[in-house]
Amino acid sequence: MSINLGMPALPPPTLAPRRKTRQIKVGSVLVGGDAPISVQSMTTTKTHEVNTTLQQIAELTAAGCDIVRVACPRQEDADALAEIAQHSQIPVIADIHFQPSYVFAAIEAGCAAVRVNPGNIRKFDDQVKEIAQAAKDHGTSLRIGVNAGSLDPRLLQKYGKATPEALAESAVWEASLFEEHDFHDFKISVKHNDPVVMVRAYELLAEQGDWPLHLGVTEAGPAFQGTIKSSVAFGALLAKGIGDTIRVSLSAPPVEEVKVGLQILQSLNLRERKLEIVSCPSCGRAQVDVYTLAEQVTAGLEGMEVPLRVAVMGCVVNGPGEAREADLGVASGNGKGQIFVKGEVIKTVPESAIVETLIEEAMRIAESMEATGDPTVTIS
Ligand code: SF4
Repeated sequence: MSINLGMPALPPPTLAPRRKTRQIKVGSVLVGGDAPISVQSMTTTKTHEVNTTLQQIAELTAAGCDIVRVACPRQEDADALAEIAQHSQIPVIADIHFQPSYVFAAIEAGCAAVRVNPGNIRKFDDQVKEIAQAAKDHGTSLRIGVNAGSLDPRLLQKYGKATPEALAESAVWEASLFEEHDFHDFKISVKHNDPVVMVRAYELLAEQGDWPLHLGVTEAGPAFQGTIKSSVAFGALLAKGIGDTIRVSLSAPPVEEVKVGLQILQSLNLRERKLEIVSCPSCGRAQVDVYTLAEQVTAGLEGMEVPLRVAVMGCVVNGPGEAREADLGVASGNGKGQIFVKGEVIKTVPESAIVETLIEEAMRIAESMEATGDPTVTIS
């Protein structure tokens, strides 16, 4: 029997059309215009420890990271950039604060892009012409990264603190300096740790130019708080079509940042959904341990690349309905689990066999989808 998994012919709906931005290149990744919204992260290793840094970049790449940024606080880090840029599978951005000479070093090292913080690079505005020329000569793009914690003193004085207006004005000013030198290959970020200030700053910026925007809530905090702050802030902006590349900042391993970033985009249909577990929160009606069941199914299917929606439901109230809506699902009750594939009950198994059966069925469907590229599966 052949069952259609209901893959939509048209792209799934989003909350708003993307804001029209100019497109730039960050190495092999396009940012802005109609390019997919990319996910970035930043290594936590000492950049000059090249092997460790490349190892972490490989882990980030495997997790789905599109672009990686590395810190460059010392000369030895600047010296390591060429080797890192050459061996990384994804574009490398050098993150430069304070030392203007490292901007040129990063460009010459072949980094895909350089993040500059005009607020703390000495005499930055005087060097825009040279930076723009060097970047042009090497095909390097830039990010003008304005940060609440290192705002231009002139604007701090004018606004009293890092308000949305101050952040946006700082970014627009720096952008104008590069544009005066006919350099346009840059994106902008205006980060703040308060999602309300951050969202407003990006909105103001989006009204004033077609620059591609890199979204970030800076110093968002530990994983739980940072995930929520970033999701809320990015969600508010992406729902208006604002944002061309994102970085979730967490006090957690960078792979977690990538997972959260991808999940935010997938939730808004801005990335193709991959594996999605729909599990109920459980309640007094549950007839199985939903948490354990959902965890075991999630663990068993980790890394699955096909867009499969798997429903794990605790009882018969919403269970059959949700399980039917999913590609694959289980509705549990009375020590048994009814296994559904796209709305049809294919078997009923004892509770002890639910996890194993769901994983087996998921693997079978995934194999069929990968082999044929067709969302139609054949039930044995
Ligand atoms: S599916 Fe059943 S167990 Fe799960 S939350 Fe709903 S009513 Fe409760």
